[in-house]
Amino acid sequence: MLASQVAAQQNEEVICPVCQVQGLQEVAKRQGAGMGASGAEAAANVLACGCGLALQGANLTLNTVKSSLENTISHHGQSCAGQMSFTPTTDTQGANVLITCSICDWMSFLV
Ligand SMILES: [Zn+2]
Ligand SMILES: [Zn+2]
Repeated sequence: MLASQVAAQQNEEVICPVCQVQGLQEVAKRQGAGMGASGAEAAANVLACGCGLALQGANLTLNTVKSSLENTISHHGQSCAGQMSFTPTTDTQGANVLITCSICDWMSFLV
C-alpha cells in the first residue's frame, strides 16, 4: 500500500553527548512493580551509554534526544562559535545533561 515509506527506514544512531564516543542505546524498562496499580504500568524508556549516562523518560526516544541536540546546537551556533560542554546531572526528574558554553554563558538541559 504505502510502499514509499519503506525507503525511509534507517538506523538512527545518536552519539552520546557526554563521552562523544559511544552511541546511546534505547532500552525499554517497565516500572510499576508494586504500589497496587495493577494494569497501569508505565513503560519508561531509558537511553543508556556505556560511560554511565542513563537518561530516562516516558516519551524519551533516540529521536527526541537527537532533535533536541540538533536544535540546541544550531540555535546556539547562530550567535556563538564556542564549543559546548555536556555535563551529566541528576535532579528530581532523574538524569539529564546540562549543556553549557563558556563563551556566551549558554545554559540549557538536553531533556
Ligand atoms: Zn557516553
Ligand atoms: Zn556559546
